[in-house]
Amino acid sequence: MGLDAIAITDHEEIEGAFAARRLVHERQLPLAVIPGTEVSSLDGHIGALFVMQTIPKNKTAAETVRLIHEAGGIAVAHHPYSPRWLNKVLGVQLGCGDLIKTVPFDAVECTNAVPGSGVKYNIAAIDAMRKDHISVGVTGGSDAHVAEFVGKGKTYYGGNEGILSLQSSLFYGFTKGAEGYWKTREKFYYYIRLVIAMVRNAVERKGSVN
Ligand SMILES: [Zn+2]
Repeated sequence: MGLDAIAITDHEEIEGAFAARRLVHERQLPLAVIPGTEVSSLDGHIGALFVMQTIPKNKTAAETVRLIHEAGGIAVAHHPYSPRWLNKVLGVQLGCGDLIKTVPFDAVECTNAVPGSGVKYNIAAIDAMRKDHISVGVTGGSDAHVAEFVGKGKTYYGGNEGILSLQSSLFYGFTKGAEGYWKTREKFYYYIRLVIAMVRNAVERKGSVN
């Protein structure tokens, strides 16, 4: 699927990223793995890229970003304008919303590849960045909860030094997000899984949809 690198950002976990690294190494795959995690802050989900540790959950967005920076990582506001109804169903805050204007995120996910009306929420992020002249990097993410959807969202970056180029592109804001095409069958499969996961996670109050 033409990926040079993949960021593994399991919720409050780092082991998945390490496991992926080992696998890539063992199979000698031409793929770089960016270790990361998705942190459930009190204000919304925040991606921590290029970190080698988990970051404590349930802190404010500002504190979470500070901790990610302290760990040497890049902090990304994931799906900042996730729908409010989904927050209610899950009983959590999924996106940091307008905090992207005040909290020093390194990048904002403007292309979350979740199909359907997700486009509307991506546009909300782009609009907020334009209106408020937020000039940090943007990312495209698959938010893939199953292997089939890896690569639906992509982040393009310049340079030819592998993930070092990605790291500096994110840091300096030279990235671009893109979303892949979803076949009807894929969308159907995605939504079936999503509904099942939402019901299960709302009952267990997990705070995510995976
Ligand atoms: Zn998330």
